[in-house]
Amino acid sequence: MKRWFRVVIISIFALAAVSLVVIQLVQTRRSLSISDNMFSVSVGNAMEDVINQLDNDNPNATTSFSYQDLDSLIVEELIINGIDMHPVIGVYDGSQGSFLYSSDPRRETDLVNSPYRYSFRPQGVVSTNQFFIILSFSWADLFLQRNPSIYLYMSSFLILVIAAMFFISLRTISNQRKLDQMKGEFINNMTHEIKTPISTISLACEMLSDESISQDVASRSNFIGIISDENQRMRVLVETILQSAKMSNKNFTINPKEVDINDIVDKVLNSFKLTFANRSGIVEKHLNANPSVIIADELHMTNLIYNLVDNGIKYSNGAPHIEVSTSIDGKHFLLSIKDHGIGISKADQKHIFEKFYRVSTGNVHNVKGFGIGLNYVAQVVRLHHGHITVESEPGHGSTFIVSLPING
Ligand code: ADP
Repeated sequence: MKRWFRVVIISIFALAAVSLVVIQLVQTRRSLSISDNMFSVSVGNAMEDVINQLDNDNPNATTSFSYQDLDSLIVEELIINGIDMHPVIGVYDGSQGSFLYSSDPRRETDLVNSPYRYSFRPQGVVSTNQFFIILSFSWADLFLQRNPSIYLYMSSFLILVIAAMFFISLRTISNQRKLDQMKGEFINNMTHEIKTPISTISLACEMLSDESISQDVASRSNFIGIISDENQRMRVLVETILQSAKMSNKNFTINPKEVDINDIVDKVLNSFKLTFANRSGIVEKHLNANPSVIIADELHMTNLIYNLVDNGIKYSNGAPHIEVSTSIDGKHFLLSIKDHGIGISKADQKHIFEKFYRVSTGNVHNVKGFGIGLNYVAQVVRLHHGHITVESEPGHGSTFIVSLPING
């Protein structure tokens, strides 16, 4: 889908969804306001009848004013006017600013703020003061009187559904775009990563076929080393891609047996010998795990260590400095691979184990990769019932710590 077309579709959808939500909200507000007005009118009618029976000024008033009777009189009149509620009732002397009576003294603040306030002159009270009967309805009562119909519930529910669907669609579209982008990058990088060792190997072969070079033992072993290194790089690369594809098909299994991790570390570091030599790198080994034999899959363990060391080298500016340590912690074997490279921000640390995830600075530093190495490492660790953590600070390097159960 073309970018402009996607933007137009999203904009139309957003506009339609927002308009629908606004129309529904206006409609809902209107019906609630009608319902509120009807309620106020009914309360007003009820109180008019009450006051007619109490008010001193009304010649037809029959009820002599008494606070005891006031509650039942008001509730009765409310019911007659279709309001089956029992509000808090107060009689307020407006001139004194105090209550002469309230059915619930704890709610006097609510009464003062209530809009349901009706002026009257109580029977038998001789005073020029201004008196009011005030009613205060609870929030629950006011909510219920709005009598939200099934229509209101339905439209609120539909508004929520539309909003949710809109955000889900947006997220899906954005994920799809990211995935497309990642796929494109993956193919680009894969082509590059496979082409480089192929051309390096063919160059080395060409050199070796030159008699003057192949006669020289040092040069010969140097070129054979290059071929072997590049071969190993391609092997791990192909292995990682294949395993990654297998993992997606849920066919990923391990073949655990006794393996010596210290030996594997030695073997892997050996395959990087030339790389370290070419980049004046430093390798420190602290292989303190004793015993160093655990139950694990040899091939996957080799690839795991290779990937972590390779990353340590790839993401180091200048001469790489890698420290590999092993130790035993109770029933767990600890493998730590530390570099002094570019480091990883806290935000990126949360994502680096996701498939295809690459920190954008990876591209800025022109480091090629697929973003599947760490995902593969994490899957291998998971299948061995272990766990992997990363400690890192941008500019200060990273340490990957793998903890594996010794007995598998
Ligand atoms: P890639 O093929 O891109 O190296 P990985 O899955 O191995 O893929 O790593 C994912 C991302 O994590 C990398 O693109 C890189 O940005 C970051 N990363 C991995 N290892 C390190 C490290 N040792 N130092 C700094 N960044 C790293």
